[in-house]
Amino acid sequence: MSETTVIIGGGQAGAQTVMSLRREGFEGKIVLIADEPELPYQRPPLSKAYLAGEMAKDRLFIKPAAFYDKLDAELLLGVAVESIDTQKQQLTLKDGSTQSYDQLVFATGGRVRRLTCSGADHPAVHYLRTLGDVEAMQARFSAGTRLAVVGGGYIGLETAAIAAKHGLQVTVLEAQATPLVRVACPEVGQFFQSIHQQAGVSIHCDTLLESIEDEGEGVAALITNTGERILAELVVVGIGLLPNVELAASAGIACDNGITVDEHCRTSVANIYAAGDCTNHPNPIYQRRMRLESVHNAIEQGKTVAANICGKNTPYAQVPWFWSDQYDVKLQTVGINMGYDQTVIRGQPDSRSFAVFYLQAGRLLAVDAINRPAEFVVAKKIITQGLAVSVDRLQDETINAKELVEA
Ligand SMILES: Cc1cc2nc3c(=O)[nH]c(=O)nc-3n(C[C@H](O)[C@H](O)[C@H](O)COP(=O)(O)OP(=O)(O)OC[C@H]3O[C@@H](n4cnc5c(N)ncnc54)[C@H](O)[C@@H]3O)c2cc1C
Repeated sequence: MSETTVIIGGGQAGAQTVMSLRREGFEGKIVLIADEPELPYQRPPLSKAYLAGEMAKDRLFIKPAAFYDKLDAELLLGVAVESIDTQKQQLTLKDGSTQSYDQLVFATGGRVRRLTCSGADHPAVHYLRTLGDVEAMQARFSAGTRLAVVGGGYIGLETAAIAAKHGLQVTVLEAQATPLVRVACPEVGQFFQSIHQQAGVSIHCDTLLESIEDEGEGVAALITNTGERILAELVVVGIGLLPNVELAASAGIACDNGITVDEHCRTSVANIYAAGDCTNHPNPIYQRRMRLESVHNAIEQGKTVAANICGKNTPYAQVPWFWSDQYDVKLQTVGINMGYDQTVIRGQPDSRSFAVFYLQAGRLLAVDAINRPAEFVVAKKIITQGLAVSVDRLQDETINAKELVEA
C-alpha cells in the first residue's frame, strides 16, 4: 500500500492519529502539517505548572522528534494549510507548496475567542492557548504583579490559582453569578469561588468588562459595568474557544459548531476525517451531538480515525471526561450534565473532598468529583454501562464508593 494520509493540525488529536495509524498497521506515507512551530505538545500545563515556570519545556512535548522519525512520519511544522481541492485530493500550503492525499484528517482544534471591547488591544492583554501565548506573558508573571483574569471558566480559574500561589495579586471578572456556570451546578461554582477567596483572589461575579483604558507604564485599567476600575499589569482572557472550521467549510465540508462527523469520525466528504476539539460528533451514550474540548476526546477520536482509515469500522462511543487542577484540589468530571434535573452531593464541600452526581429522571448523567478519585471511577463505570443508582446510596457516606453500583 502506498497511500498517503495527511493530518492538518499538530495538537493532541493530530499526534495521536499519527501514533495510532502505525499501531493499527498503516504502512503508507504519513504527513502531519501544523501551523505552530513546535513539536506537538500538551496544552493543560499551560494554565498550570508550565505558566509559573515549574515545568521544563521538554516535558510539554507529547513525544520527542526521534519518535516521529522512528514511525517514519513526516512533520511539516510552522506552516498552515490554506486551501483544499477535494476533487484533486490536494492541499495548498501557505508557503505555496502542495501536498496530495488519499486520506485527510482535520485535527485543527480551536482558537481563543477574543475581546471586542474598546482597549482590547492593550499590550497588557493576553490569551492562553499556545506555547507562544505563555512565552509572551511569562515576563510579566511574577510576584507582586496585578493580574486581572477575564472569565471564570476552567482556564481562567487555573490561571488565577497558579498566579495566587506565586504571589501575584489576582482579580477575576465573571459575567455570571458564580464561576463555571456553563459546565457545573451552582454548588460547584460556589466551592471554587470560595477556595479562590481563601487564597486571596478577588472574584467579582455578575460583572461585565466594558472597556480597557491605558493607565500608562504598561498598566491597563479594566472598566466594568458595576463602575469599577481595576488596574493590572497583566490581563489574561479566558472567554471560550472557537473551533477552527473555516478551512473545512471552504472546501465544502459540512460544519455546524465544529466539523460535522459521523460515528466513525468521517466528515461529509469522502476520505476526509476529523478528530478533537474541532469536531461536532454524535455520542451514542447520550444520544445527541456534541463538541468537546478535552484531552481524552482528542486522544480517543485520534484513535478512532486511525482505526477507520485502516478499515476497522470502529465507532466512537466514549463517556467524556475532563480534569482541572487548582491549589490542592483535583476536579475530575465524567459525563455531560446537560439536561440534569437533580443533583446529589456526597460529602461536604467544606472538607474540600466531595462529589456532585447529576441525574436526569433518576439516570446518572455526570459527576464532578472533587478530590474524590474513587467516585470518579465508579461513576465512569455506571455511566458507561448504563447501570442503575439509588439517590439514598449515593448520599450515604457509610457505603464505600466502590459499592455504589446497584446490586
Ligand atoms: C490552557 C489550557 C488548559 C487546558 N487544560 C485541560 C485539562 O486540564 N484537561 C483537559 O482534558 N483538557 C484541557 N485543555 C483542553 C485540551 O488541551 C484540548 O482539548 C486539546 O489540546 C485539543 O487538542 P486538538 O488536537 O483537538 O486541538 P489543538 O490542541 O487546538 O490543536 C490543533 C492544532 O491545529 C493547528 N491548525 C489549525 N488550523 C490549521 C491549519 N489550517 N494548518 C495547520 N495547522 C492548523 C492549530 O494551530 C493547533 O496547533 C486545556 C486547554 C488549554 C488551552
